[in-house]
Amino acid sequence: MEEDAGVIVVGGGVIGCAIAYHLARCGVPVTVVERGELAGEASGAAAGMLAPLAEAHAPGPFLDLCLASLSLFPSLAAELEAVTGIGIGYERTGILRVALSAEDEDALRERYRWQKGTGLPLEWLGGDMARELEPALSPRVRCAVLSPDEGQVDPQRLTMALAGAARAHGAHLLLSTPVAGILRRGRRVLGVRLPSGLLRGGHVVVAAGPWTGRLLRGLGLYLATPPRRGQMLAYHARPVRHIVWGPDGYLVPKAGGVTYAGATVESVGFRRRTTALGLRRLARMARGLVPALGHAEVASAWAGLRPGSPDGLPIIGPVPGWEGLTVATGHFRNGILLAPITGRLVAQRICGEGTDLPLGPFSPARFLD
Ligand SMILES: Cc1cc2nc3c(=O)[nH]c(=O)nc-3n(C[C@H](O)[C@H](O)[C@H](O)COP(=O)(O)OP(=O)(O)OC[C@H]3O[C@@H](n4cnc5c(N)ncnc54)[C@H](O)[C@@H]3O)c2cc1C
Repeated sequence: MEEDAGVIVVGGGVIGCAIAYHLARCGVPVTVVERGELAGEASGAAAGMLAPLAEAHAPGPFLDLCLASLSLFPSLAAELEAVTGIGIGYERTGILRVALSAEDEDALRERYRWQKGTGLPLEWLGGDMARELEPALSPRVRCAVLSPDEGQVDPQRLTMALAGAARAHGAHLLLSTPVAGILRRGRRVLGVRLPSGLLRGGHVVVAAGPWTGRLLRGLGLYLATPPRRGQMLAYHARPVRHIVWGPDGYLVPKAGGVTYAGATVESVGFRRRTTALGLRRLARMARGLVPALGHAEVASAWAGLRPGSPDGLPIIGPVPGWEGLTVATGHFRNGILLAPITGRLVAQRICGEGTDLPLGPFSPARFLD
């Protein structure tokens, strides 16, 4: 066997890089092993929204996790830029959630009622007030909720900056290096198998997105991490300043005069490609929110595979009954938002420190017992 690689993190997406950054920052030897390039999968395909109020349907541990992660971004952005020179494009763009029908309005009002208690400032706007704020909005917008503290980053730059900062703190990155399997003796993990041989390490963190389940199967562990395809369109136009979130999708104004329109949610296995139907739906959604986008030139289109989980919640923490095995995946539509807190919690757990938030609700034990 080769020399000890320390903690081996499988996967160079945003989650693996965030974990490596937090471990390396605490002086823990760490090696990231990525079969392709950094941010080559979902982490490079994301819209980059930091939207804790989008997916949480009630107060609880998941919302707490999302809010805790959002609060880490201002200092993380500054730290990463100081260490790597890479700006992650962190902006409090604000999100305007809009209703187009009476049914949407009821749903929006219901969410507004409980979300007012989350600590994030929210403002209810009538349709005309929403159009005063964003004149390009459709006349069909009946009302909206403005959430000024939610925002966005550039997901690719975030991943690169986390990896760069991890390296600056001593982490090793092995790219174009697929992990073929996890080595073990009994229920103790010893490292990973690479095309070039064995890489020894006393702890393996599997952060391989929707491919996590496949790697664990080699250990006789059955954890479903299904891929959920998301397609996205980008326009050469920037008619809105805020992120606009409608009942069927969202618009995200990005740097360089571009707007993203996303995203589909599809269960089609590992087929990572766009479809004519998916892109037509996105275009209809985009012009339904902002009619001017009906005349805008399409800049590009792409698709990515989000890592899912059986109950829709992330899977973060040690695998019960195993020594030296941790999983961090299942972040579905929120992996960019949740990367900082995931990296922090996993590093705290591996270092034997108390965690900022309880990991119990996200433990792999809920599927592997
Ligand atoms: C269209 C779209 C829009 C999105 N928008 C947002 C958003 O606005 N906000 C948000 O928070 N989230 C968003 N997401 C979700 C977010 O992108 C994901 O949750 C997040 O990127 C998951 O990161 P990850 O590191 O777990 O997975 P990945 O990015 O998939 O990284 C896993 C890595 O593991 C590597 N790997 C797999 N198997 C092996 C192996 N055997 N050996 C070595 N390496 C391996 C892969 O090559 C990959 O690079 C979006 C996703 C999509 C597709």
